[in-house]
Amino acid sequence: MHINGWLVGLKQHVEIEMADGVFSTITKVKESSLNHQDVCIAPPLIDIQVNGFAGYDLNSDDVKTADVCQMVKSLWKTGTGFCCPTVVTGSNQRMSKSIQVITAALKDPTINRSIIGIHVEGPYISPQDGPRGAHPKEHVRQPNWDEFQRWQDIAEGQIKILTLAPETEGAITLIEKLRESGVVVAIGHTGAEHQQIQDAIQAGATMSTHLGNGAHAQIRRHPNYIWDQLAADELHASFIVDGHHLPPSVVKSMFRAKGLERAILVSDAVHLAGLEPGRYQFGSQDIELTSNQSVRLYGTDYLAGSAIELARGVENSVKFAEISLDQAFRLATVQPAGVLGLDNQIGSIQVGRNADYITFQWDKLGYKIKVLSTVIDGQNRN
Ligand SMILES: [Zn+2]
Repeated sequence: MHINGWLVGLKQHVEIEMADGVFSTITKVKESSLNHQDVCIAPPLIDIQVNGFAGYDLNSDDVKTADVCQMVKSLWKTGTGFCCPTVVTGSNQRMSKSIQVITAALKDPTINRSIIGIHVEGPYISPQDGPRGAHPKEHVRQPNWDEFQRWQDIAEGQIKILTLAPETEGAITLIEKLRESGVVVAIGHTGAEHQQIQDAIQAGATMSTHLGNGAHAQIRRHPNYIWDQLAADELHASFIVDGHHLPPSVVKSMFRAKGLERAILVSDAVHLAGLEPGRYQFGSQDIELTSNQSVRLYGTDYLAGSAIELARGVENSVKFAEISLDQAFRLATVQPAGVLGLDNQIGSIQVGRNADYITFQWDKLGYKIKVLSTVIDGQNRN
């Protein structure tokens, strides 16, 4: 089996041969530039923050294993081949249920490789309006190692990322324990002071979650927790580039300050992604999906997740930050794989690796990716 196309990353037309679900050879076939009609080949996108998609809500009280499987399959159609299902702040019972259901879905051999770990976002975050974002205040609580360990037991060790606020009581000790146990610690939904961010980094935090969001509507110009995190080279940072969470000039500035090699795209999609505009219940909350694909707490300006797929984030990154398609893909492939320590397995196309790739057409003038296929282990999943 073989495919021909423009290989993103190599910036060349290539022929790729596969055998037994593994890339066997990659051969350059001609010198020429990328044209509108050409088929492009890239690694499947990796989304380390997905709360739901296409109507499947991982944080609902009655979430089922089948919902997780269907969500993963819906993501395949959009070019996202790998994801971290994300469990957000709720009661211990509700969060445990979501973790248990996602862990059960991991036993399904058809989707198993596509789930690269569970992301737990909260509940050890700031209770303040703004930093808390759309997380329900009644379930925000202090860091609790025992509670986390119970979740990790339920997850059979598959919780790979925890997002927390370093200023919460006991957070720094928790970060040390999480790092020792191999969990990536991300700073997010925080109102931390300079020293608290430095302490979190010292304790082992390596990421910022959706930097620039989950923040106060107004903060002093400097110093503040956004500059402090942007300036910290120890921290990768994820960004929601849906056109609503961050204005284009902020995306461009933040990418440049953080450096493309430390920037990661996430969708932060909620289950409304892919549904009709309107008013919906999301957990205990009243949510509105607007006609221009923004998701807000009903009657407020607070965003409650996004309604995009990650490919839209890649398109917007090219447009907003004036970077190349090749650079934008790295933000959603190489970088997220690296932050999880999986860059020796996924995130780039190389001889000897599993035949995981997407094919698509790139409309350079309209900034549009049209996904043609999503292939995992040499099998088309689209
Ligand atoms: Zn969030």
